[in-house]
Order: sequence, then C-alpha cells, then structure tokens
Amino acid sequence: MDQDTVGAVVPVRSRADLAALGPGVAVLAGGSILFAEQHRHLTTLLDLTTLGWTPVTVDAGGLGLAATCPMVEIAALSAAYADVWAAAPLFRQTCTALFGSFKVWNVATIGGNLCTALPAGPMTSLAAGLDADVLLWGPDGTDRRLPAASFVTGDTTNALRPGEVLRSVEFAPEALASRTAYRKIALSPIGRSGVVLVGRRPPTGGFVLTITAGTVRPVQLRYPEPPSARTLRADVEAVDAWFSDAHGAADWRRAMAVVLGLEILEELA
Ligand SMILES: Cc1cc2nc3c(=O)[nH]c(=O)nc-3n(C[C@H](O)[C@H](O)[C@H](O)COP(=O)(O)OP(=O)(O)OC[C@H]3O[C@@H](n4cnc5c(N)ncnc54)[C@H](O)[C@@H]3O)c2cc1C
Repeated sequence: MDQDTVGAVVPVRSRADLAALGPGVAVLAGGSILFAEQHRHLTTLLDLTTLGWTPVTVDAGGLGLAATCPMVEIAALSAAYADVWAAAPLFRQTCTALFGSFKVWNVATIGGNLCTALPAGPMTSLAAGLDADVLLWGPDGTDRRLPAASFVTGDTTNALRPGEVLRSVEFAPEALASRTAYRKIALSPIGRSGVVLVGRRPPTGGFVLTITAGTVRPVQLRYPEPPSARTLRADVEAVDAWFSDAHGAADWRRAMAVVLGLEILEELA
C-alpha cells in the first residue's frame, strides 16, 4: 500500500543516522507490515537494511541474529545446525507459525516481528522460548539488554522507549543445547496462531514452558524438574493473560494450551 504521507525513505548508514527518529519518523525493516496498512502520522522512514548488519553470527558466545535478519535465513538454521544444536528444529518450526508466502518470509525480519508485537508473533515464540536476550540501541548511544520474553508487553505493545531501536537477538549456548518441543494450533489450517507453545529441557536440568499467541504477552512456567501433569495443568489454567479475538476465544486458547502443554511435557520429560 502506498504511504502517501511519507515524503522520504532514508537509507541508514550509521547509528548516528537513527537520531532522526521521533514523531512522524519510524524505522523500516522488511516493510511487510508497514506497507500493509496506512500510517497517516508517518512522514519519513529510516531504512535499517542499509546498515549492512551481518544477519547471523555463531561463535562461542552462542547465536546472534541481527534485527534485520529475514525469516527465510532463520528457518534455514534448522538444517544448517541440525547436528550441532539440540534446539535446531525450533527455528524452522516457529517460522512456520507465520503463514506468509515465500515473499513475506524473504523480507519479514525478526526485529520487525518482535517490534510489531502481535501476540501471534512467531519470532516472539522463538526468542522467548529459547530465553534469548534482545539488545536495544538507545538514542543517546547507550545499550540496553532485556529478556526477549519481557520485550512484548501486550497486544501490539513492546518495551521500546522513544527513539530506541532493536539491534539484535542473542541466544546463549545453553539454550541452543536444550531439547525443545513445539506445538501450534489455529482455528483454520492457514489461520493465524491461536496458541503456540515451546517446551525446553536445558542440558543442566529443569523444564520451561513458554506460551505465546494465546496470551497477550509471552508467559513462562519454569520448574527445576519436569512437573507432574497435574501441576502443569493447574499452572496453565492459572495463567491470567489469555485474550480473545477473531483467531480464538480465551477459554478455547486456555483449553488448547493445557492439552498441548501436557503433550510437550510427555515428549520432553
Ligand atoms: C501475509 C502476512 C501474514 C502475516 N502473518 C503474521 C503472523 O502470523 N504473525 C505475526 O506476528 N505477524 C504476521 N504478519 C505481520 C508480521 O509481523 C510482519 O510480516 C513481519 O514480521 C514484520 O517484519 P518486517 O521486517 O517486515 O517489519 P516492518 O514492516 O518493516 O516494520 C514493522 C514495525 O516494526 C518497526 N520496526 C522494524 N524493525 C525494527 C527495529 N529493529 N527496531 C525498532 N522498530 C522496528 C517498524 O517501525 C514498524 O513499526 C503477517 C504479514 C503478512 C503480510
């Protein structure tokens, strides 16, 4: 869709160029959601893709994904690291929770998905499910780091402060070495996710269940050891952040999270 109030799309070459962010000025990543709706308040877009960030960095510190890394490259990590990371399958699995065509997968970025902050954000499911951190660049040149699970704060709200930009998403080696299990359900075969659950068994022990899509923000249930089915059921039922929209009613989402959470427990325990 044409954004007829936008008079300039500015290629960003350095961090200093981001100082222009403010009322009427937003960053542009893949543009898959920015250009899908009218934004009459916008006059200028700052194109992050011209910063030339390395999309994927793997080293002893784990995995770093630049905010501009497109989903198609994230999905490809599952095959590329199949023999290296126990959690490798989760990268492609979570990408499939976004039923966009190949065109969307090629442009939609992890940063754009997290910042859009839809409850059904597949990259929120991935980053929260693996306990990643997000690195935020502040307008005054300072950096801020947050658990990805607390970055999305509600339905289309996030933890970004005015002028901040999401720089990268960082996954620790321990998370990549975790066994994971994934479940997604939607009301129709290609519908937006109703509930997405990620289970994680770290190599050091414990069990983490991350609920997204069915709740307005990610909810994590953590245990030192896999809980009993009875405990997990009670804890999922006690979650207070379910929401209702055209993609599912709150009570259905809660019921599905119980069923799928118990499946994950059985698979991983
Ligand atoms: C067919 C289709 C299906 C879709 N299905 C889903 C779905 O199932 N679930 C879902 O969550 N979404 C879905 N979306 C929307 C989805 O969020 C976007 O497609 C995509 O993930 C956004 O990424 P982008 O790089 O294109 O962001 P853009 O469109 O470029 O930007 C999106 C927003 O994030 C801001 N932004 C982008 N990058 C940064 C950054 N690094 N720092 C700060 N702000 C930033 C932009 O200013 C803008 O407000 C769908 C879209 C389409 C077209």
